[in-house]
Amino acid sequence: MSEMDYYEVLEVSRDCTGAELKKAYRKLALKYHPDRNPDDKEAEEKFKIINEAYQVLSDDEKRAIYDRYGKEGLQGQGMGGGFGGNASMDDIMDIFNSMFGGMGGMGGGFGRSRRDPSQKYAMDFEIELPLKFNEAVFGCEKKIDITYKTYCRDCDGTGAKEGKLSTCDYCGGQGQIMMRQGFMTFTQECPKCHGVGKKIEEKCPSCQGKGYETKEETVTIKIPAGVDSGNRLRAQGYGNEAKDGRRGDLYLTFFVEEDEHFVRNGSDIYIEVPVFFTQAILGETISIPTLKGELDLELKPGTKDREQFVFEGEGIPDVHSGRKGRLIAQVKMILPKKINDEQRDLLEKLQESYGVESRPHKSTFESAFERIKGWFK
Ligand SMILES: [Zn+2]
Ligand SMILES: [Zn+2]
Repeated sequence: MSEMDYYEVLEVSRDCTGAELKKAYRKLALKYHPDRNPDDKEAEEKFKIINEAYQVLSDDEKRAIYDRYGKEGLQGQGMGGGFGGNASMDDIMDIFNSMFGGMGGMGGGFGRSRRDPSQKYAMDFEIELPLKFNEAVFGCEKKIDITYKTYCRDCDGTGAKEGKLSTCDYCGGQGQIMMRQGFMTFTQECPKCHGVGKKIEEKCPSCQGKGYETKEETVTIKIPAGVDSGNRLRAQGYGNEAKDGRRGDLYLTFFVEEDEHFVRNGSDIYIEVPVFFTQAILGETISIPTLKGELDLELKPGTKDREQFVFEGEGIPDVHSGRKGRLIAQVKMILPKKINDEQRDLLEKLQESYGVESRPHKSTFESAFERIKGWFK
């Protein structure tokens, strides 16, 4: 089913930006959305592949692989090409709703079955949550101030003064209009009422016709250990409020701050260990910081610049399995910037004591010099 090029599917150029991609996806996803195309198998397939394409192209890593190796590259990486053909519609709808649930103004019927079609706002919404490095690594409880929507009591959520709605005169209350192009006829959502079939004669003065009011709330959310930037957490029951009192879901997308010493790569963390050249030559056991405290690092005599030492299980727990990654300590050789007279004396003595060995370029380049001379004879 999915042999088409993902860029063609989304009708974008190969160098499009993330924003262009999202816009194109939104447009097409709305067009082929199952709610707007009931019992239309073709539209459903199209909706699936649009989602598949977007899943890949909106992920920088997957997009880079797709650009170079195509779909096979993604399968080889064990990443899968998005959903493939057997993803359930519910999975796709989950992602669709989590993306657009909070953006409002979507017209009727996108909140799966939970959404009353006359409700003028989505049940779910999304916020970005900044986390400190340690909060993401160890997990935490966060108190978050949120603003959620609830229906306007004065107009019963209709947006019309005293809740009085009249029939949309453009579509005659059908919510759809017939379009004719040549001998073809097709239906399209009514552009005036956006499919609702009703219109507001006079706006509700309390909500200015929006049909909702907002409420502030402070919620406490438990963040699991190991989350990373871009991860999304669904906090069930903290979304917008429907007329019957049910709450939708809140989606939290994390943004994790960097640490000044540790560099994170998935569940692995890297730390740079400055080592003075004499320590590297002589060898020494030194203390390095870990996520839990400290650890002995044994530098053998002759330690090299950029040498890496790997400590299994000292990294960050995987957010799903809890399995911890590695701590990777990398040596950064430090040479003295200045030397005093005594140090110069000692170093000269040291160089002398090495004799020929202290001038490796001589033996290395001797044959090169001979060869080059030969070229000009
Ligand atoms: Zn109102
Ligand atoms: Zn209409």
